[in-house]
Amino acid sequence: MNQSMNLIDLHCDTLFRLSGEKAGQDLKNTDCNVNLSGMRETGTMAQFFACFTCLKEQQGDRGKEEGFEQCFYQVLDMIGLMEKQCTMFPEEIALAQSYEEIMKNKKEGKISAVLTVEEGGILNENPDRIKILYEKGVRLMTLMWNYENCLGYPNSRDVRVMEQGLKDFGIETVRQMGKLGMIADVSHASDGTFRDIIKYAEGPVAASHSNCRALCSHPRNLSDDMIHALADKGGIAGLNFYGVFLGTERESRIEEMAAHILHMIKIGGREFPAVGTDFDGFGGMEHMDIPNISQMRRLWEKLKEKGVSEDQLDLIWGGNALRVLKTLR
Ligand SMILES: [Zn+2]
Repeated sequence: MNQSMNLIDLHCDTLFRLSGEKAGQDLKNTDCNVNLSGMRETGTMAQFFACFTCLKEQQGDRGKEEGFEQCFYQVLDMIGLMEKQCTMFPEEIALAQSYEEIMKNKKEGKISAVLTVEEGGILNENPDRIKILYEKGVRLMTLMWNYENCLGYPNSRDVRVMEQGLKDFGIETVRQMGKLGMIADVSHASDGTFRDIIKYAEGPVAASHSNCRALCSHPRNLSDDMIHALADKGGIAGLNFYGVFLGTERESRIEEMAAHILHMIKIGGREFPAVGTDFDGFGGMEHMDIPNISQMRRLWEKLKEKGVSEDQLDLIWGGNALRVLKTLR
């Protein structure tokens, strides 16, 4: 097996687990899908760690604005938790805020941790917060999760929601993210919001953890038109391992993963597909061909079996993500 040692996974929710139900565990001693020994075994170059926050959990009986305020502080706590992991295991993992830092960490034999935020509603119409998050090292923000927020609208089966685009503050935010050097993530956005992000983004764009609607008709996935638009903008999409987005409901199998990757290549080109596992972000699977980050070679081997070249595999595994990271100023 000559698997590349340069995996970049654009999305996991491990920090959410470690700060919640698995509090007390750490990246080394944990039953999370993503952990230090697993990343080491797979040859991870960089893992994007999402600071995910759920409005409904934080809101309680408060108003929405106050709920997002709580979410903002929860995200700051998760950033602190990531920093703590890097302090606890300094030989193994270090934060990275740029392509150069990822390369430096790799040279020193360390895995890079890239901070992301999954819920732009935490800005609560406060433009200064984008800068605050950037200065803390956040390099990608998923503009919304599954709720309407101050930026725009989420994916939905309701066409009236699905056609709604970015709000004025969303347009302003996307522009500011581009200026600062933060990837605008379209995963979870409504189709209208997706189109507006493509229209207004001046910096890098990505779908950190989304699959193909042509193979699995779910509003969280990308239509062929969206794949075209994202690829034309130089963007990428990370393959999501959740069975519901693969089209197999309660199973997560490499057969469908490979099919989604092949479709991404067919529609978006060789520089489009990447990996965004969504590990520790979903449950309810009766079976997972890749139960955790340590077993990524199974997907590599399946894609090889399907005739995907080593060069193309290197791009999927990390090359395409690195290209986007290089464009961050
Ligand atoms: Zn997500």
